[in-house]
Amino acid sequence: MQEKGLLIVLSGPSGVGKGTVRKEIFSQPDTAFEYSISMTTRTPRAGEVDGVDYFFKTREEFEGLIEQGKLLEYAEFVGNYYGTPVDYVRETLDRGKDIFLEIEVQGARQVREKFPEGLFIFLSPPSLSELKNRIVTRGTETEDVINNRMKTAREELEMMHLYDYVVENDQIELACERIKAIVVAEHCRRERV
Ligand code: 5GP
Repeated sequence: MQEKGLLIVLSGPSGVGKGTVRKEIFSQPDTAFEYSISMTTRTPRAGEVDGVDYFFKTREEFEGLIEQGKLLEYAEFVGNYYGTPVDYVRETLDRGKDIFLEIEVQGARQVREKFPEGLFIFLSPPSLSELKNRIVTRGTETEDVINNRMKTAREELEMMHLYDYVVENDQIELACERIKAIVVAEHCRRERV
């Protein structure tokens, strides 16, 4: 029988650089895992493409997916829904491939309940003031949204102890290397390499 793939969850506070780290990991040709594209009701940012960055949905569509049980997890984050389509995750794991989710902490907690055997990695900022700097320099958010995100970030940092690994995002390349090394180590630990 085919071995199942590994479910890898990268989470951490908004603005810590999860998206950047994930994009860097998937731009590397030796990355062997697949990315789970999320669904969201938020408006696309400049340059974002439907079906690549996210599947952009209306609130009605999203709520329909929740009712039909099509989401592995979902969360409302700063006024918008975000969720992981369950079918693609299961198909990928059944094919024996690793799948990588980059999601916020409420969603990660739901995944932990359904897949306790998953690999949960928390990306942490070097400090809270550094985190605020990053959100402000991104320049895509209003003052209210920034304050709201910082409040959420403080609460999210308290969740760190629930994860298998904590990776500090002091340098993107280093963080990516550490995450990939953790995945390799985890396969060895589970005797799957
Ligand atoms: P952004 O709006 O900056 O793209 O994402 C906001 C937050 O939502 C980030 O922390 C991102 O990791 C998280 N996120 C993206 N996709 C999902 C998802 O499918 N589920 C959950 N729970 N969070 C997600």
